[in-house]
Amino acid sequence: MIDAHRNYISGEWVVSSGGETYPEHNPADLSEVIGIYQKSTVEDTRNAISAAGDAFEHWSTLSVDARAEYLKKALALMVERTDSIAKVITLENGKTLAESRVEISAAINEMEFQIHQGLRMPGQMMPSAQQGVLAYQHRYPLGPAAVIAPWNFPFNVPARKITPALISGNTCVLKPAQLTSGAGEEFVKLFHDAGLPAGVLNMVTGSGRVIGDELVTNPIIKAITFTGSTEVGKAINIKAAAGLKRTQLEMGGKNPLVVMDDADIDAAAKSAVIAAFACAGQWCVSTSRALVHKNVMKPFVNRLLELTAEIKVGNGMDTQATMGPVCGEAQLKNILACIEKGKAEGAKLLVGGNQLKTPGLEKGCFIEPTIFADVTPEMFIAQEEIFGPVLGIMEISDLDEAIEISNGSKYGLGASIYTKDIARAMEFTDRIQAGLTHVNMHSAYKEPQLSFGGVKESGHGTPEAGQTGIEFFTEHKTVYINPGAKG
Ligand code: NAP
Ligand code: MG
Repeated sequence: MIDAHRNYISGEWVVSSGGETYPEHNPADLSEVIGIYQKSTVEDTRNAISAAGDAFEHWSTLSVDARAEYLKKALALMVERTDSIAKVITLENGKTLAESRVEISAAINEMEFQIHQGLRMPGQMMPSAQQGVLAYQHRYPLGPAAVIAPWNFPFNVPARKITPALISGNTCVLKPAQLTSGAGEEFVKLFHDAGLPAGVLNMVTGSGRVIGDELVTNPIIKAITFTGSTEVGKAINIKAAAGLKRTQLEMGGKNPLVVMDDADIDAAAKSAVIAAFACAGQWCVSTSRALVHKNVMKPFVNRLLELTAEIKVGNGMDTQATMGPVCGEAQLKNILACIEKGKAEGAKLLVGGNQLKTPGLEKGCFIEPTIFADVTPEMFIAQEEIFGPVLGIMEISDLDEAIEISNGSKYGLGASIYTKDIARAMEFTDRIQAGLTHVNMHSAYKEPQLSFGGVKESGHGTPEAGQTGIEFFTEHKTVYINPGAKG
């Protein structure tokens, strides 16, 4: 019998008031239980929120430097524990160990940047119309925040959200996804071991359907930062609005990669393979549509198929594997159903399309890298987020058509173009409806000093990371001071 992992409330590792737990399964072998976690109740969630509320009073008044000391200690532990955390991520998410390490190094970069942003939290001095009057505006912390994390980047997403929240003086309650509660726990442990004051960071595991409403509607919570499906994001926003709570929603995507007739075909094909199949296609910024100019369709597809054939699907713990399983049975079934829809609506399956059942992999959620050609804009697989290793190829004749098809989606997260023509590239970046856009780079490329967020049904609220990371978690205050007090 494995010991159950616990919630983290007010600096203590505690069991749920309901006494119930849930098992987590290894996506590389569903018969293996890899951890038992607390099935938190509304009462547990209230306790965690109260702890965050109580801790806010002191934490928000500490100097930024004092707060930074704790975060720097947690960051040092993150660097030290990279190998052990990578194993936890791979075991529960399925991505390869190399991909898990990349996720941790991204988290390290995000944390470093946001700690330093906190140290230079922006304010603004303005000349006053009144002689001798001092006029300025500055930012102060909003209050306790609910952090609802996804399973696809179960470690980096909490790092990207929680660091700017804490450094700017807020406290947090983290709810990891049920599929990847261990990565959330690893993150929280860093802060516990760094000696963070009790209640500043809390964690409750369990079902979003059971405890989500409490996180979103409890009056102590002032901000909700969420990454996940558009459906849940929209529902959160409606409930949060009643309490005038601030929301930051990072949701789905259907990111296009446009390959023009003057593109570097080898580079474009490499990009497509990375952005479509890394992390088994489970990135919100994955490339899921390749819009290819008809004059270069043949060489692009040939190179794409060559590179795809090199992918070695296997257990993420096996260092030979370059693509792991998808994260859990529900994802497996959904992706296979999407592939069937693609076939039924007339897209041409070029490669893949099946669950891999080779010996050793038959009990896991392994799917072949899958590419469809002859995809047309109205098809389900051209419109809906599949969130798996599935790429659809569409033919275009010119830039206008590429932009029209790219924008003909309810989503607007990432979009890339490959072309050597700077005018065409800039027209694309101007007209594309997306929060992130890349020229001659793949759609998942990201740096911590720049904001990350989508438009349309991909994102809502102030974007995460970069300069806006702290903006989301802070309020503006405008101050006028008449030092002479002459009235
Ligand atoms: P999801 O339900 O939106 O899950 C994201 C997070 O929200 C999880 O922590 C989840 O908890 C929580 N949650 C679920 N229902 C909630 C509610 N009513 N109130 C508050 N929180 C709630 O996503 P999913 O079902 O795991 O995945 C479905 C699809 O979402 C994927 O196939 C993909 O298309 C998309 N997705 C996108 C991203 C992204 O990065 N943009 C990430 C993940 C998923 P539980 O673990 O308890 O459900
Ligand atoms: Mg869901």
